[in-house]
Amino acid sequence: MQNFKKESLRRAWAEIHTDRLKRNAEKCRALLPEGVEMMFVVKANGYGHGIGNILPCLENDCGADWFAVSNLVEAIELRELGVAGEILILGYTPPKNAPELVEYDIIQAVTDFDHAAALSRECPVGEKVRCHIAADTGMTRIGLRGEISEIADSIEKIVKLPSLSVEGLFTHLSVADSDAESDIEYTEAQIEKLAELKRELNRRMVIVGHFHFLNSAGAAYHPNARGDLARVGIMLYGLSPNSALPLPVSLEPVMELKSAVSQIKKVEAGIDVSYGRTFTTKRETSVAVVTIGYADGYPRLLSGKAEVLVRGKHAPIIGRVCMDQLMIDVTDIEGVAVGDVVTLFGTDGDEIITADSLAELIGTIGYEIVCGISPRVPRITVEG
Ligand SMILES: *Cc1c(COP(=O)(O)O)cnc(C)c1O
Repeated sequence: MQNFKKESLRRAWAEIHTDRLKRNAEKCRALLPEGVEMMFVVKANGYGHGIGNILPCLENDCGADWFAVSNLVEAIELRELGVAGEILILGYTPPKNAPELVEYDIIQAVTDFDHAAALSRECPVGEKVRCHIAADTGMTRIGLRGEISEIADSIEKIVKLPSLSVEGLFTHLSVADSDAESDIEYTEAQIEKLAELKRELNRRMVIVGHFHFLNSAGAAYHPNARGDLARVGIMLYGLSPNSALPLPVSLEPVMELKSAVSQIKKVEAGIDVSYGRTFTTKRETSVAVVTIGYADGYPRLLSGKAEVLVRGKHAPIIGRVCMDQLMIDVTDIEGVAVGDVVTLFGTDGDEIITADSLAELIGTIGYEIVCGISPRVPRITVEG
């Protein structure tokens, strides 16, 4: 069984380089203004990296004691993995799940007064649901929306709810990754609105505890803004909130996606490759078959667009990416053999392909590439 498993790992796998994760975390922390603590955003299975693969590094090497996830299932999974630190759910949790929030000691984002009231109502007797209040300052996603006085009125009512413990106030920035003048102003206005709300609450002697709004882009491009927590996600994983804009620090992608060559065939010119006959060889071509496809989360949209790395060299994908396999042209690469490692993104010798660069080819973001690597792909932790 063990041998069989080892063999199956040779099909397609994701290497998770925790030494890079640690260095990225140190660099992100160094970007934060004094007094701002880092909240490690590990939603969506740690942005696809495998929560079990990254957690020991985050807790033991990075000293993480604040985590953010998207939902209750992810939060409970963290507790079951032994996380003792604070866990904030950034998204909606139905009020009927208030007992689980209490049982697992999880902090819930509150979307509006009705959500808060229902959570308080559903809370087991004698307990309190811990929460951070979301304010919508311009994202038009969850949170209290309106004039500052209106939001403050709602918060005043929320803090009086009997079974709710309000421990924070936060907002989410929608264009902190842009360097356009109007977007910078928009971000500053979002931050200022939250700050003004905080001042208004202070005037009313309403205590909300923690105060946060920075995401990765905020931490990178708005370094003077401060709360007391920063919710850093994508930069931990070594990717960029906006790959068109340079980051103030150099980060290392934590995930590498690899596969292997299963067959090589030499074909003459004029031969069609893969579904739909979208690619026809123009010369005698060495075609290598690679054991990864869109069911592994490698986007089919990359058909005919992306390259991979084999033996330290770039090889183009030819024809359509299939569900479980794809074909590459290795004519110009010396000595390619069955079993050779193929790097879909990651490093091979001096060459690198990043999830961000693949994302650019198909009009998306690196976030979607790493989050999309499917459960079929084993995550292998690589240290050092
Ligand atoms: C996902 C998320 C973050 C982290 O964003 P990054 O761009 O990955 O740093 C922070 N805050 C909220 C509310 C989020 O949903």
